[in-house]
Amino acid sequence: MTSFDRMWNLRSALRRPSGRERCTQPGCARRVTIRCAYADRRQRVCATTWCIQHGAIFDDTAYCRRHAGTVAALSNGFYQLALPDLDNRAPSLVGWVSEELDAPIRAALEAAARSRDTTLVTDPVRLTYSPGIAPQRCWSRTWKLVDHLGVVRQVSIEVEEESQDLVALRIDNDLIGRSMPPWIERRQKVAAVSPDEDAASRNAFNLAFARSVQAFLGRDEIASGF
Ligand SMILES: [Zn+2]
Ligand SMILES: [Zn+2]
Repeated sequence: MTSFDRMWNLRSALRRPSGRERCTQPGCARRVTIRCAYADRRQRVCATTWCIQHGAIFDDTAYCRRHAGTVAALSNGFYQLALPDLDNRAPSLVGWVSEELDAPIRAALEAAARSRDTTLVTDPVRLTYSPGIAPQRCWSRTWKLVDHLGVVRQVSIEVEEESQDLVALRIDNDLIGRSMPPWIERRQKVAAVSPDEDAASRNAFNLAFARSVQAFLGRDEIASGF
């Protein structure tokens, strides 16, 4: 892409929708009022157009829902140059799942801390490399229990760029498991579900994750007691 193309893309992203565009959501006939302003580190602009219901606003700026999720997840001080690529769903998925699981993860870490003099610290969503023989680019959010000597326990939610449909749970340095969220599984099957079924499957997914966190933090607690 030449620098002229980049400038043109950025300018068209900032233009208000003319009203003739269609909402990107299939089957939606509502008036378009949002053009996604997300530009990645290569200045490629999303520029998809949406009605007010299918788009999103974050910090007074209009985005598609995915990129609203991306900027929200990265909003705590991540530097602009590292903005993830346009088609990268990983940061938004990590941000979303982390919000849902924030309370149970904090509760499980606080329970594991017992009376020890520790502080709970959370890192924003950021780019890391998953440990292993062939390190993978991976977006993660981490909750840490720290004391005066360093990190006592830590829990991370991770999504690798190579497999953006799977959410991984890591406790300390152990990979506990990977799981596909029900809404992604459903998208692949194109199966229709009622809002109740949707809510139930999301709850079940969150509960399963929260239980794993409790179980694995608790297990080590017992093991270290011997
Ligand atoms: Zn729409
Ligand atoms: Zn977008």
